[in-house]
Parts: sequence; structure tokens; C-alpha cells
Amino acid sequence: MTTTENRLVSEIHLAGRRLAEGSAGVYEHVNPATGKVQGEVPLAGPAEVDEAVAAAQEAFKEWRKWRPEDRRRLLTRIAERIRAHEDELAVLQARENGLPVSQGKAVLVPHGAGWFEAAAGWADKLEGAVVPTTPGETVDLTLLEPIGVVAVILTWNAPIGGWGMCVAPPLAAGCCVILKPSELAPFTSSFIARICEEEGMPPGVVTVLPGGPDAGEALVRHPGVAKVSFTGGGPTGRKIAAACGEQLKPVLLELGGKSANIVFPDADLAKAAETAASVIFSAGQACTLPTRILVHESIYDEFTAMVAGALGQIPLGDPLDPATMMGPVISEAAVERILRTVDEATRDNGAELLTGGSRAGGELASGYYIEPTLLGNVSPTSEVAQNEVFGPVTAAIRFSDEEEAVAIANGTPYGLAGYVHTRDVSRVLRLASALEAGTVAFNGAGAPAGPGAPFGGYKESGYGREGGKLGVLEFVQHKTVSVALS
Ligand code: NAD
Repeated sequence: MTTTENRLVSEIHLAGRRLAEGSAGVYEHVNPATGKVQGEVPLAGPAEVDEAVAAAQEAFKEWRKWRPEDRRRLLTRIAERIRAHEDELAVLQARENGLPVSQGKAVLVPHGAGWFEAAAGWADKLEGAVVPTTPGETVDLTLLEPIGVVAVILTWNAPIGGWGMCVAPPLAAGCCVILKPSELAPFTSSFIARICEEEGMPPGVVTVLPGGPDAGEALVRHPGVAKVSFTGGGPTGRKIAAACGEQLKPVLLELGGKSANIVFPDADLAKAAETAASVIFSAGQACTLPTRILVHESIYDEFTAMVAGALGQIPLGDPLDPATMMGPVISEAAVERILRTVDEATRDNGAELLTGGSRAGGELASGYYIEPTLLGNVSPTSEVAQNEVFGPVTAAIRFSDEEEAVAIANGTPYGLAGYVHTRDVSRVLRLASALEAGTVAFNGAGAPAGPGAPFGGYKESGYGREGGKLGVLEFVQHKTVSVALS
């Protein structure tokens, strides 16, 4: 990635080369904060996919033989460089997808670097076992072998995090990675690809092919790709799983969420309101955000007033301004979809608009800004309570007892995260097992948890796990070796 006269330029990183042109043409990248074209993205197509897979398969022959501690050192250096370039990456991310630099620096870059580092640490700690099966007759042992070439397909909302959560684990396991970032967010990935090259990553081990759905599909269907790791929406996840199914190719899916934040009357309400207001992170465009607030009826009015007050004070603005806490959503189409959802919820489904609900005007009118929005009296079965909005919108729902809260929380197709606020320890333990979600966070804890903990979804939020040892083991095969003693 380079910037020329303030225009952003991304590259295709293929077999040790940086290409300014791709076979699928050019995507004119629009800055979501201004609505203006700010750069060109060369798009990779099936031709680059073929070349990338061949280069990765060739590179895999050597990369898998690297001493694990050498892999750990190289990956750790890359993580350190990501951290050291925090300022540039946060600015690039702000221009790429509108994430405020404040959130990029405080959350996303440390998150990406931290997960990358954690995966690096597992590179030389993966062990097989000696298994007693027929003592005296055979010695049986297990070997962990890298699965091969891994395709990582990311959406646009958090590519720096994606490097830590999705790219580093297969590399640590000894796999080669072909990353396809979204054409909407290719610049930060191009920047990190340069870091990999500068730190001595052999050509073909990491490939970056910015591109659209066609490039993604070619990658998924390529017989030389051994496993797919996908982060994005459910409809695309289904197509990818179906394509992988045809080839019996394993796939890891990190999809959407509709996470509940359950607030009981004994909770620290200030803390619970902070969790509720975190829906403004990345303008509501993050998979684990608490987009439903389930509030006990006895505190409903008080609590929704607190959240509406907090959301009403969020400084909206230029993502490059350090004071900005919420930037734009990704596109004009997203603005229209989000406002339509809010409109339908209030007009047709009886929801009450407690704050927000409009596009921001004035200086922000040319960008894709939506006011942080709280809807009250939302029916748990209505569209806005069931499906992802992927915008700064949260839905408040009343409940009268714990059983009802759990039923509502579990009553969507998703199961990515859950949040609970209560001081009752027994309730904490009951809900920890009753909630159908990959991560359940109590009393202000966040999701995902740290990089040492597994992260992933239940139900339609996906399958497979990122994070910790499990996240690296996703990319190894377990081979049993049996040796006769005579
Ligand atoms: P999307 O599903 O439209 O696209 C994601 C990626 O898939 C892009 O790179 C795109 O080019 C590619 N793609 C599209 N069609 C493809 C095909 N047929 N084959 C292969 N690749 C294809 O993403 P979106 O809906 O814009 O992203 C938002 C979604 O991502 C939300 O649902 C959000 O919750 C989810 N998300 C999940 C996580 C998680 O970790 N669980 C993290 C971030 C975002």
C-alpha cells in the first residue's frame, strides 16, 4: 500500500511480486466519510487465483519444514511491526472503512497484533502424543501436519483484526495463506503484506488478492485449496459451505450475530448501559455487538433512558478526528438499508424511536452517517430483533423473569455472543450454560475475550473456532502412525 497525493493505492501481493494491476479490473474506492473516490484497487480474478495457489503449493513444500521456533520468531516480528505501525494503520483503517482512529488505536490494531502474537506463540508448542493401543505389539503415535494451502476470505469491517484471528493461526500451523480481503477494505491488508515481505516471509507463503465475489468463489472452488476460513455474512457463508461441501473441503465460518445484553434489576446499571452503548463501535458494524437489550420490566424505563442519553451524546464525525467516537457506515446502500429497517420497525411493528433514527446532516451530509439509534418496546419476533442490522441500531425488549429472558435471548437463528449484567453469582452460572452462544460475557466483560480463548459461533453464527490452541489446531491434520515392534 502506498499513498500518492493523498490517494490510496493498494496492491496485489502475489508470489513475491507487488502488482498494481489485476485481471478483474479496478475498483474505485469511496471514502465512507466523504462519499468521494479516494483510490484505486486493482482486482484479482481467477487468473491470479490460479497463480497464487500454484505459488502457495510450491512454497508450502519448504514452509512446512521450517523449524517451528523460526516460524514463531518471524510471526512474532510481524506482530511487533503491526503494533509499531499503529498510527498509520489506524489512519488507513479510518479512510478505508470509517472506523474512528480512536477505536483503531485503542482496540483494533492492538487486537490484530495481539491475536497475531498469540498465534505465533503456538507455532512451536503443538505436540502429538504416544498412544498406548497394543502395548508390546505396536507403538502408536500421532503427528500433527499442516493441512496445506488455506484460503482466508474476509469482510470489510475489521481486516487488521482478521490478520490476527484468521491469517496468523494457519501460518503458525505451517500452512500457506491466500487472503482475499474485501475490495471495500484492501489497503490495510496491502500494508501488512508489505510488512510480511520486509520481515522475510518467503514468497508464496502469504498472498493477498484484493477482489470481489468472483475471486472469492474461484479461491473456494480451487482444488489446490485445502481449507477455507471465511468471515462475513450468513448468505455468503451458506454459498461457501455448499461449494466446499461439493469438494468435501473443510471450512471455518465466522458469520453474523444478534447478541443479547440481558440486564437484571440487581445489575450495576451504569456498567450495563456502557455495554449497551458499545453498539456504536465501528458504527454498529461488528459481529459481536450487543444489538438487543433485554431489560427487566421493573427497570425498563430508567435503563432505556440511560442508554438513550448515552447514545445521544456520542460525538459523530470525521473518523480521522481523535475526538470522534462514531464514524460513518460503509456505503450509501448500507445507509438506505439501515434507515429502512428502522422505519419498518417503528411504522409496521410498533417499536418506539427513543433516540436517533436519522441520517446525520450538516457537514456530515455527504458521508454515510447515521445517528446512534435506540428502539424501544421491540417485539422479540420482529425483523429488527431477529436479524442483523449491521448499523448503529439497538433494540430494547422487556422481560419479566429469567426464564423469559433466556428464551428471548436464544430465540434467534444466531449464537455468536451474549452479555449479562447481574450481581447474582448463581444466576451467572445458570446463564453461562443456558445461553446458546460461543462467548457469554458477564458484567462488562467483552466479546471476543482475549486471544488465548476460543472464539466462534453457535447455530447460524458459524462453526469452527479462532483463538488459542484450538484456533491453530483448525489447520492441522492428526495422523496416527503405528509401528509394529517385531
Ligand atoms: P459478505 O458476506 O458480503 O462478504 C464477505 C467476503 O466474502 C468479501 O470478501 C466478499 O468479496 C466475499 N464473497 C462474496 N461472495 C462470495 C462467494 N460467493 N464466494 C466467496 N467469497 C465471496 O460480507 P458482509 O455481509 O458485507 O459482511 C458483514 C457480515 O460479516 C455481517 O454479517 C457480520 O456479522 C459478519 N462478520 C462476522 C464476524 C465474525 O467473526 N463472526 C466478524 C466480522 C463480520
